[in-house]
Amino acid sequence: MTSNVLSNTAVCFTQIKHRRHCTGICVNAALTTFIEQEMQECNRNIAVVTYNTNAQVPDSAGTATAYLCGVKANEGTVGVSAAAVKSQCNTTRGNEVTSILKWAKDAGKSVGIVTTTRVNHATPSAAYAHCVDRDWYSDGDMPAEALQSGCKDIARQLFENIPDIDVIMGGGRRNMYPRNTPDVEYPGDKKHNGTRKDGRNLVGEWTDRMKDKRGYYVWNRKDLFSLNPNNVDYLLGLFEPADLPYELERNKETDPSLTEMVDVAIKILRKNERGFYLLVEGGRIDHGHHDGKAKQALHEAVEMDRAITRAGLLTSIYDTLTVVTADHSHVFSFGGYTHRGNSIFGLAPIMSDIDQKPFTSILYGNGPGFKFVNGARENVSTVDYEQNNYQAQAAVPLSMETHGGEDVAIFSKGPLAHLLHGVQEQHYIPHVMAYAACIGQNKGHCHTNSGSPSLSHISPTLALLLSIKWLLC
Ligand SMILES: [Zn+2]
Repeated sequence: MTSNVLSNTAVCFTQIKHRRHCTGICVNAALTTFIEQEMQECNRNIAVVTYNTNAQVPDSAGTATAYLCGVKANEGTVGVSAAAVKSQCNTTRGNEVTSILKWAKDAGKSVGIVTTTRVNHATPSAAYAHCVDRDWYSDGDMPAEALQSGCKDIARQLFENIPDIDVIMGGGRRNMYPRNTPDVEYPGDKKHNGTRKDGRNLVGEWTDRMKDKRGYYVWNRKDLFSLNPNNVDYLLGLFEPADLPYELERNKETDPSLTEMVDVAIKILRKNERGFYLLVEGGRIDHGHHDGKAKQALHEAVEMDRAITRAGLLTSIYDTLTVVTADHSHVFSFGGYTHRGNSIFGLAPIMSDIDQKPFTSILYGNGPGFKFVNGARENVSTVDYEQNNYQAQAAVPLSMETHGGEDVAIFSKGPLAHLLHGVQEQHYIPHVMAYAACIGQNKGHCHTNSGSPSLSHISPTLALLLSIKWLLC
């Protein structure tokens, strides 16, 4: 379980239940033992089965559709059912599925998305978009046929499908501006220029729409912290043209950390008396693994852990359901009979009895770390395997390491957290959250004929806690 937990990509999402109505969740991917301690208070541990409808080893688009929209889907597609075919625009209509973020918004809760990837990347996009291709970031990325058939790019859907998502933070500026528009932070670097063919400035349109609504757009850390969350109802923060940098490489003056973004997001969202739903993704854990850079991936995981801790300090288990899990795993392994106290990035205490060379405790099943020197496995003691960008040895050469197909861990705390136990399909997750928050389609259990909440379906202990809370509210 430990290596599985460490190898997961990071998708955190937090839905929160504030006072008697609110709800919160935090799904992550790469968890550390710190998280286990953090969540110990009232969690129920389970494993989540992550396959896509057409893949044993899933991708983040299909899995996000599962744990956000409640149905499994094909790989590469977001916010559409398995009846939709990847990259085939004409299979979109009629197969759209909505997410728990939308269910929460429709119920009057505030909603937010925080990610270290671009805000229109696979995971966040399943919360608001219906798209047969996760790579249709802007219309500049779409084939002419798909545009002619009426399919919309994901950046555009971020602002049009659920127009008032209260908090949006991450990267992705270049997909919001017309083609060739210089980026505000890197005006001399053409690769960061705008990508839109339709000439629209989605940030400008959003800002215009928010003029009288206490809505603010920020693109750097200083501007983010110049805001008082008490005076902000809507926030759009786009801190990079594409994904945010790895935490180890973050410019602490210009880019906020995941923890800082979560802190601001919760302070804005929790003002809503009816509660809020927040999706948090530590999305670059996954990228670190794809690069074979275990140190980057694990430091992203530590930052994810800090974000979860901060979320826990800003919320209460009596009114907030917090869920932490992964979208999928990676072919990452941690072995070699290392002793307690050994650096996790260090060597195993034994040599290979086949080639008589040392090996690192962390290895990948495949990826860019595959390396032969003079026809033999590289002797890792001749390189700096502790450096940030060292690519751990892989058994099979690939330019990008792949996801893994095994189950991932999930942790939860708060009201009705006990419903997350045992081994479950991934698409079960949003249904539990919706049930706990009394949002979405199935609300029959929420009220009795007298109009007061029915607690018959939950444990006496939890019922007691909730009853006390209601008296206090
Ligand atoms: Zn990935």
